[in-house]
Amino acid sequence: MNGPRAYNDRFRHGIKKPMIARTPIVLQPRFDEHWQQLLAAGLSNCDELFDALAIPVEQRPALAAHNKQFPLRVPQGFVARMRKGDPNDPLLRQILPLAEENVPVAGFGPDPVGDHAALTGAGLLQKYHGRALLITTGACAIHCRYCFRRHFPYQQQHARQNNWHDVITSLKQDTSINEVILSGGDPLLLTTSHLQALTDQLSELTHIRRLRLHTRVPVVLPERINAGFIEWLSKLPFQRIVVIHANHPAEIDANVARHLTALRSMPLTILNQSVLLRGINDDSETLTDLSERLFETGVMPYYLHQLDRVHGAAHYEVPDETALVIHQQLRQRLPGYLVPRLVYEEAGAPSKQPLPRC
Ligand SMILES: *Cc1c(COP(=O)(O)O)cnc(C)c1O
Ligand code: SF4
Repeated sequence: MNGPRAYNDRFRHGIKKPMIARTPIVLQPRFDEHWQQLLAAGLSNCDELFDALAIPVEQRPALAAHNKQFPLRVPQGFVARMRKGDPNDPLLRQILPLAEENVPVAGFGPDPVGDHAALTGAGLLQKYHGRALLITTGACAIHCRYCFRRHFPYQQQHARQNNWHDVITSLKQDTSINEVILSGGDPLLLTTSHLQALTDQLSELTHIRRLRLHTRVPVVLPERINAGFIEWLSKLPFQRIVVIHANHPAEIDANVARHLTALRSMPLTILNQSVLLRGINDDSETLTDLSERLFETGVMPYYLHQLDRVHGAAHYEVPDETALVIHQQLRQRLPGYLVPRLVYEEAGAPSKQPLPRC
């Protein structure tokens, strides 16, 4: 028994049992050292990764040349959720730099969603009414090979460079913005005191009502949600939204679920966005399981993104027609509130766009 189908069947059997541990979690202390050590202990060598997964040499796929700017990067806790001995494991496939990355494909470029053009200040992106997105850092805890920001020139363009001064100045001038989105890279890789310094300044701006975090860290490095982080978040004078990023139900193990439960000790909304990825989650069984698994941990499905056409990610693309069929099946299988919105991003458009494209 092999392949994604068998995996999903096995997985679905698990879902009938109470999977979410009810025992309350003992959070890591408030200091940043513990999660920073876990971050530093992440794997960056493909052979070590294959060894850890007991994948025999003859089954190891051809890999891309070492990419200095966007190398392999994966926390050990995420590797532990991969299936041993399976070179096609859906979690592994998200982070493995395959040789296909080096093949240029027409229509796939370095900046598919027009982020460079939309940058208003040092690290501030405003494309949509009322919301401004802040590139807080270029760093991520994991490198997702399909990432549309994989070629983003972070060195010049993250907002922390002058202690947030330019960002705060431009937000102050635009009172139409009522929601600030901390993004990146991953904002949860900033230390809690850095986050605090930023939100202390944001708190002065009376037109900001909501603070949103766009982060994959609760899924890939859940230990980052420590006591200090919870304390910081719970004291903010904003409505709180955390948008996590999981693509496959096997990403959400009991440890992730417990940390998400700890987050919900305060009033906040937790949403999930996924990217539709060929060979990883491009079937309605997997996405049904994902939605149900998310809901069990108190997370609402939000977006299912059609892949942004970034150079190096063409081998992940699912055709629009297939995406629409899968989405139709999700609508048939799930209650409406568990069906994510199927969207794509178009440079210059005033919002994420529903499929089909016009
Ligand atoms: C996706 C995105 C947002 C958030 O859009 P929502 O539809 O509100 O989730 C905001 N700003 C930028 C630049 C984005 O790319
Ligand atoms: S965590 Fe998000 S920003 Fe970072 S590599 Fe993955 S998809 Fe890209």
